[in-house]
Amino acid sequence: MLPLNKLSKKDLKQIKMIVFDVDGVLVLRGTKIKQIGNTTTLQTKVINERQIEQIKELNKIGFLINISSGRGLYMLQEMFRGILPFVSLTYENGSATWYKGKIYQHINSFKYTRDVFPKLKKVANKNRNVKGFEPKEFIITIHCKKQIKEIEEIVKKEKGLVTVWNGEAYDVLVEKAQTKALGLKQVMKIFKLKKQNVMAIGDNYNDSELLKESGIPISADKTRVPGKFYIPLEGKFLPADKLMQKILELKETD
Ligand SMILES: [Mg+2]
Repeated sequence: MLPLNKLSKKDLKQIKMIVFDVDGVLVLRGTKIKQIGNTTTLQTKVINERQIEQIKELNKIGFLINISSGRGLYMLQEMFRGILPFVSLTYENGSATWYKGKIYQHINSFKYTRDVFPKLKKVANKNRNVKGFEPKEFIITIHCKKQIKEIEEIVKKEKGLVTVWNGEAYDVLVEKAQTKALGLKQVMKIFKLKKQNVMAIGDNYNDSELLKESGIPISADKTRVPGKFYIPLEGKFLPADKLMQKILELKETD
C-alpha cells in the first residue's frame, strides 16, 4: 500500500468515476440512535459544505460521482440534497441505486431476511446492549454497544445470511451477494464503465469488496481494509477531503 501523496497524474488518466463511502470518509464515524418500544430516534448526519464544494469541483472537471453507503436512501438524499442533480446514490450496501429520481434495485433480499427479523427483534427487546434497528429496506442493521454473540448465532443458523460487524452495528446481509461490489458492478453498467475507470474510497470491513472491484482502491483505514493507496488517519481533514484535495491539485496542473 502506498501513501496518498504517491498518487500521480498517470494514475488518474483512465479514471471517470469516483466512488465515496460516507461514514468515516465524508463524515466522521458514529451513529446516534435510540429505540424505546416503537419509537426510534436517529440523528441525521450533516455533511460539511466544504465537502459539497469539493464534490462540485470534481464534477465540474468531468468526474462522475457515486456515493456508496450502508445507509438508507432517505438519509443519503438528505445529506447530499445540494448535489442530487449529478450524484448517484448506491445505498444499503450495494442493494440499490438512486440516480436522477430513478431507482435501480440490484438484489431481492426479502425471502432471506423475512424469518430472521422477528428473532432478532426478540433479542433486542431483552438485551440492554442493543441500541436499536436503523430503518432500512433491503438489509437489517442493528446498532449495539458491543458485539453480541446471540445475534451472530441466530444469523448463522439462517441459510444464506451473514453478519458484518463494523464497530457500532451489525449488518445482516445476503451472503456473498449483498455487498457494495454488487452495487458498483451495476453502477458501472448504468454508466458504461470498466473497472479501470473507477476509483473507490472506503474505511471499513464492508468496503473490502467495493475496493477490490475498483481500478484504484483507496483505503481510509488500512487497519480495516486494504487498498492500492491509503490515507493516513492523522490530521484535521476527513479522508475524502484529503483525497479530493489531492485529485484537484493534480488536475489543476493539467
Ligand atoms: Mg465507512
